[in-house]
Amino acid sequence: MSGEIETKLRGPGAYTLARQTMDAMEAHQVWPTAVNFELWAHYVAAPDSALGREIARLLSTGEAFTDTLADELAATYLPKAKLNDQIRDAGDALTKELDAVSRAIETAQKSSEAYGQTLAGASKSLTQHDSVDLKETVSILLEATKRVQRENKALEQRLAESTSQVTKLREHLEQVRRDATTDGLTNLSNRKAFDEELERACADAQAQGQRLTLAVIDIDHFKTFNDTWGHQTGDQVIRYVASVIGRVGAPPRFAARYGGEEFALIFPHESADIAVAVLEEIREEVSSRMLKRRSTNDDLGAITVSAGLAELHGGESAHMLMERADSALYVSKRSGRNRVTSAEAIASAA
Ligand code: GH3
Ligand code: MG
Ligand code: MG
Repeated sequence: MSGEIETKLRGPGAYTLARQTMDAMEAHQVWPTAVNFELWAHYVAAPDSALGREIARLLSTGEAFTDTLADELAATYLPKAKLNDQIRDAGDALTKELDAVSRAIETAQKSSEAYGQTLAGASKSLTQHDSVDLKETVSILLEATKRVQRENKALEQRLAESTSQVTKLREHLEQVRRDATTDGLTNLSNRKAFDEELERACADAQAQGQRLTLAVIDIDHFKTFNDTWGHQTGDQVIRYVASVIGRVGAPPRFAARYGGEEFALIFPHESADIAVAVLEEIREEVSSRMLKRRSTNDDLGAITVSAGLAELHGGESAHMLMERADSALYVSKRSGRNRVTSAEAIASAA
C-alpha cells in the first residue's frame, strides 16, 4: 500500500494529491509533519485501505490526532510493511548473488583442474625426451599451476565462510520478518499480517471463483475474568484459546490474533457450513476445559468464546466480509454468548 501511495506521489496528479492531503490535515487541525503527511496521504488516496479506514474511524470518534497517535498508526500500518519488503528483497538479492558467485567459482575450479591435468600429461611425455630446457619449462609451468590451484582452494575456503555468513544473515532476516508478522503473546499471526492475508485471500478467491469463509472469535466476559484473576492469568487464557484456534487454523487455514482477546480465522476454499462445524468444535473444546492457574493451582472455572462468520460473496471486498463476520459475532454476543453465528443464517432468517 505504501508503495502504491509513493507511486501516486510521483505520477500525474501528484500535486493534487499532495494538496488534498494538506487540505485534509488542515481541516482536521493536524500538524503537517512528515509522519502525518504520509498517514494522511493514505487516508486521502486510499480511503479503503486498512489505514484509511482506521483514520476515518478515529475521526468519527472525535479522537485527537496527537503525535503519539500518529506514531502508533505509523508503527502499525507504515514501516513494517516497508521493512518486510526490504527484508524480502535483501534476502532474495543475497541468494541470487551467492548462487552466481558459487557457480563462477565452480567453473573456475573445474577449468583450473583441467589445466593442471593437461600440463601434467605434457610433462610426462616430455620426460621421455632428453631436452633439459623443455623439462625445466614444464616444471615451472607445473609450479605455476599448483599455485593457481592453491589460490583456488583459498578462494573456495573463503566462499564457504561467506556462505555460512550469508546463511546466518538470511536466518536473522527471516527471524526479523517473522517477528514483524507474529503476535508475541500467542505466536499466531498478528493483526497486520492478518489484514494483508485477508486482502490477498479474498482477491484470490474472487479471481478464481472459489469459496472463502472468515470467522471472528472473541472471549466472553474477559474483562471480568481479568478483574477477578489478574492480567497475567488473563494472558495465559489468551494463549490457551490461541493454541486451540491455532491447531484447527493450521495452513492452509490462517489463524491470527486480531486484537486483545479477539481472534480471526480465514478458511480458504471452505464454505460457511464447514467453518460452523470447526468453530463449534473450538467453542466446545474451550468451554469444556476446567482452567487452573499455573502458579497457584487455583481453579479458574471454564471460559467461553463467541464466534461470528461470513462466507465471501461474489464481488465483495475484504472489508465488507469482515463487517458481516463482525455483525454475526455481535449477534452471538447479544443472544447469550458461547455460541457460533453465521451471517448467512442471519440473512436467511431476516
Ligand atoms: P464480551 O463478552 O462482550 O466480549 O465482554 P468482554 O469483557 O470480553 O469484552 P470487552 O471488550 O469489554 O473487554 C475485553 C477485555 O479484554 C478488556 C481487557 O481487560 C482484556 N484484554 C485485552 N487485551 C488483553 C491482553 O492482552 N491480556 C489480558 N490479560 N487482557 C486483555
Ligand atoms: Mg470479549
Ligand atoms: Mg473483544
